[in-house]
Formats: sequence, structure tokens, C-alpha cells
Amino acid sequence: MHIYKAKVVGGIGLKNYLVRGFAASKSIRVFVAITTGMVEKARKIHDTTPVATAALGRTITAASIMGQMLKSENHKLTLQIRGVNKIKSIVAVADFKGHVKAYISNPYIELALNERGKLDVGGAIGKNGKLIVIKDLGLKKPYIGQSNLITGEIGEDIAAYYMYSEQQPSVVSLGVLLGEDGCVKASGGFIIQPLPGVEEETLIKLEKIVQDIPPISSMVDKGMSGEAILKFMLKDFDVEIIQKNDIDFLCDCSKEKIEKALISMGKDELTDIIEEDGKAEISCHFCNKKYLFNKLNLIQLLDSAELK
Ligand SMILES: [Zn+2]
Repeated sequence: MHIYKAKVVGGIGLKNYLVRGFAASKSIRVFVAITTGMVEKARKIHDTTPVATAALGRTITAASIMGQMLKSENHKLTLQIRGVNKIKSIVAVADFKGHVKAYISNPYIELALNERGKLDVGGAIGKNGKLIVIKDLGLKKPYIGQSNLITGEIGEDIAAYYMYSEQQPSVVSLGVLLGEDGCVKASGGFIIQPLPGVEEETLIKLEKIVQDIPPISSMVDKGMSGEAILKFMLKDFDVEIIQKNDIDFLCDCSKEKIEKALISMGKDELTDIIEEDGKAEISCHFCNKKYLFNKLNLIQLLDSAELK
């Protein structure tokens, strides 16, 4: 049974934002996301245990950054982690503005800390799973890319995805730090990507620099801003910050969307629900909001289904 409960409710009023910039005469692009508030919001919605909070939070942070790499307002990105251990699935959907909705298949898992004394995200997900990226670019078919999980720690797995699936070398770091009460104390992430045409010398320098970057969650915990983190990490290069914008954990579900889903089940299925239960309670996977349909509502939906 799930007995874990965080006592203090945190995260309210905390700013979540993403800073985007360039370094080394625009031959490196970099994204830094501060996600403490939105990961805490997700923790409360899904009532996650510490290791599940860390796994979900890292996925949310990565999806938010990846969403911001989309080119157009109507594009959407889905990041799926398919685990083979206790966590079977984490799904995060991000839009162009870095807004994310997400869920985790098993929010209540308990797992001992790993040998480094850290929350064992890699152990909870397992190494032999898959990482899937679906980009809905408004075309007939979405773009689907996938790669094998390397460690299950998510950061390395995202870097591997970019390398093997998009031939894009990337440095990815994601981190969620929890307080003793289980609330999210600090959360963030960054992705650094050398762009085509980057000089060899710049790459060598970058490789050296990334070895010494402290964990992102500790930099956020120290109160460093996204801009300060970006500049600090790439201090040996010329750095240009080009954008800063708010991001959040937001769900776009609505009664209309749930109604459409019910109608698409077809009239036989709907008739069964009306006859057997006389009502339906449907909750959104992503935000746990409950939608109630009484018998009359369902009969109206059945009418719409019959018109199809
Ligand atoms: Zn929802």
C-alpha cells in the first residue's frame, strides 16, 4: 500500500522558465530550464513517491526543453519513456511554448537509494527499455523517433536519442532535488548542442567544460538563475542569451475532448455503459481531473454517435 505522503505543500508561486542562448559565435545552442514549481505541481497531482517524482520531473523538464525546439505554434512533442522495471511508462506532452502535461504508470513505487545514495531512477526504469519521441508537426503522419535506453536515468538516454535518432550530439543534464518532506526543492535541466559547422577546437573545449559542470539541481538549489547557470557553464565562450519565457505544467483536457472520446467508442459500447452503469466517471490521465456524465448526458452522446 502507498503510505508515502509529503506533508508540506510547496511549489506554489515558484517561477518556471526557460532560457535559450548561443555560445561560441552561435556554433553552440543551449537551453536551461528551471522547473521546480511545475515538477512540484506534477508531484501533487500524481501523488508520487520520491523516486517517481524524480523520474517524472526529469521527463517533464526534458519534454519542456524539447518542446521549445519545435518550430511552430501548432506543433506538439510527446516524450515516452518505456521502462522494463517497476516504472513501465512515463509520458510527457509538450507544446511549442514549453507547457507540459505528463503522467507516470506507477506513481507509488518505493525503491531503496542506489549505491551513490541517490534516488534510483535508473533502477526504477531499467536499462533495456525504450525512449520514444513523437513530433506532431501538423502533417498527415507524425514523426516518430526511438532509441534504446542506456541507463534509465533519462538525461543520458535523451542524449543517446539525439545522437542515434537525430544525429545531433548533445549534452543533457536533468535533476530533481527533494526535501526531507518529499517536496520538490529544486528542479531543472539543460541541453547543450553543438551545431553543424562547429569548429573542432570548440568541441574539444566543450567536452572539457562539461566534465566540471556541477549537478543542475544543486545549481538551482543554490538560487542561481537560468541566465546565471547558462553563463557559468559556458564561461569560456562568448555567450548570448536570446530568449527567456515562462513554462508550466498545464493540461489541455476539456469536457468536449472527453465527450469526443466517448462518442468515438461507438454506439454499442455507449449503450452498454448506459444500460449497465447509467453513468460514467472519466478522469484525465495527465491531470487527474474527473469528468462526470449522467444517464441523460450519455444518451445525448449516444445520439451523436448514431448520427456518425
Ligand atoms: Zn487533464
